[in-house]
Amino acid sequence: FRPLALERPAGDPDVARTDRLDEAVASVLPALEAFNRFDTPDRASIRSEWAPLLDEPLPEDGVGTEAVLELMREVVIPRGLRVGHPGFTSWVTTAPSTTAAVGHLVSAVASPQRWWLQPSNHLDTMAVRWLIELLGFPSSYVGTFTSGGSTANLVGIGGARQHAAEKLGIDAALDGIGAIPEPRIYASPETHHVVTRAMGVLGLGRRNLRLVELDGNRRADLRQMAAYIREDKAAGRTPVAIVGNAGDVNTGIVDPLPEMAALAREHDIWFHVDGAYGGWGVLDERVEAAFGDRGLYDSFAVDPHKWMAAPVGTGLAICRDGELLSRAFTIEPGAYDRERNQVVDPVGDPESPWGALGGGTPDWGVDFSTPTRGIAVWAVLKEIGAEGMRERVRRHNDFARMVAARARAEGELELLVEPQLSIACFRYRPAGWDDEEQLERLNADILAELRRVGRSLPSSTNVGGRFAIRACYINPRNDREHVELLVDDVLEIGRRLSAEG
Ligand SMILES: *Cc1c(COP(=O)(O)O)cnc(C)c1O
Repeated sequence: FRPLALERPAGDPDVARTDRLDEAVASVLPALEAFNRFDTPDRASIRSEWAPLLDEPLPEDGVGTEAVLELMREVVIPRGLRVGHPGFTSWVTTAPSTTAAVGHLVSAVASPQRWWLQPSNHLDTMAVRWLIELLGFPSSYVGTFTSGGSTANLVGIGGARQHAAEKLGIDAALDGIGAIPEPRIYASPETHHVVTRAMGVLGLGRRNLRLVELDGNRRADLRQMAAYIREDKAAGRTPVAIVGNAGDVNTGIVDPLPEMAALAREHDIWFHVDGAYGGWGVLDERVEAAFGDRGLYDSFAVDPHKWMAAPVGTGLAICRDGELLSRAFTIEPGAYDRERNQVVDPVGDPESPWGALGGGTPDWGVDFSTPTRGIAVWAVLKEIGAEGMRERVRRHNDFARMVAARARAEGELELLVEPQLSIACFRYRPAGWDDEEQLERLNADILAELRRVGRSLPSSTNVGGRFAIRACYINPRNDREHVELLVDDVLEIGRRLSAEG
C-alpha cells in the first residue's frame, strides 16, 4: 500500500481527505477479510494490549489519513467483536453478510442522505414494500426503516397512543396525552424492555404496562389479559394496546397472536406485535400458523439487522394505517425546507433530485436526516431472494431442533423448553444433581469456559427459575458443525467441571 500523499496547503489543519476512497478502502480490506475468517485467537477483550495504543487526550493536531487507517488495520480490525463467528449464538445479534456490508458502505458514500429522488431512495422504499410482502402483510400497509427494534417498537406504540387518544377526540401528538385517563398496555412478562421504555418515552408511563402471567406453554395468559382489560375499562382507565411477542428473546416462543388479535378487535384496542427477532419466523411454513393473519396486526416491529444480517442500525416498523402514523409522528416543515411537503413523489422526472423528496416520509418515525438503510436490505433480498431468506430461517429453526434432540438424547443434558423458532435452551445436569443454585453455578462456569475457549459462544437466560445455556441461531455463518460442537463442548466441559466438584 502506497501512503496517501497529503495535498493540502501547508498550514491548513483540516487535512480530512475527500478523495482516494479506493486506496483507503483497499488498505483496510485485507485486515477486514482476515477478521472475517475468525481463525486467529479472539483478542477483543485484552484491553491491556490495545488500550495503550489507542488511549490519548484529544489531539490538538491531526496525524493525517494514513496514520488513522493504519490504526484501523493494525489495532481496531484484528481485535474486532466477533459476533459473526460461526460458533456465535449469543443474544440476538450477528455481523452483516458480505453484500450487506458493501451495501452499508455504498449507502454511506453514494446515498449519504435517504431523502430526495435517487436510485437509493427508490430502493429503500422498494425494500420496505418487499419486506411487507415477504412477511405476509396486506399491500395497503406502510413501513419505514428505523435504527433498530427499539425504535420500531417505539413507532408502533406511538401509533397505539395516537389511536387511543383519537378515540377520545384528542390528538396525542399535538395536544399531549394529559387528557388520556390512565393509559394501559397489556403484554406477557417475556416482553422486551424496549416496549417498556417506549411507554416511558411516549409519556404513557412504564408503570402502566400490565403484565399477565405465562400460561403452561410460556405464552401470555389470555384469560387474565381479557380480565385486566375488562377491569380497566370498568374503572375508567384507557386500554391503549395489546403487545404480542412474535418470538420472545429468551426462548423464542410466539404468543397466541391470533387470539390476541381477536381480543384487541373485540375491545377496539391497537394490536402491536414485537417480531424484532422472531418476526422472520413467518418464513418457515412449519411454524407460520402461530403468527396468525398479519392483516390483523395494527403495527409490527422487525429487525433486518438480526435474522437478515443487515448492518446493525436497521430495524423496520410496519403499520396498518399510514395516515394515523403521520399524525403520530408529524414533523412540521421549517422555513428552510418548505419544499419538503410540496413535491413529495412526482409522476415523471423532476428537474433535479432536489425537486422531490422521493419515496417514504419522515412523518412515520423519529428520524429526520437518516442513512439509506434499505440499500443493504435490498442488496440481500436481491442477492438471495425470498427463498434464500426462507431457507435461512428454516435452517436455523432446524439447528435449534438439533440441539434440542441431542439435549433429549444425552442423559447429562436437560432441555428446558421445546424450541418453537431458532432458540434452544438447555443445561448440563449430572445424575443426582438437584440443587438449583449448584446447577446454576456449574452451568455459569461451563458458559465462562466456552467463552474462554472461544469456538462455541452461546449466552444464558433464565427459564422458569432455571439457569439455561441459550443458543440463538440467526447468524448466517452458523453451520451444522458448530451446532454439534456446542453440544459436544458443553458435555466435555460439564463432565470435567462436575468431576472437579
Ligand atoms: C432485539 C429485540 C428488541 C430490541 O431491538 P434492537 O434492534 O436491539 O433495538 C426488541 N424486541 C425483541 C423481541 C428483540 O429481539
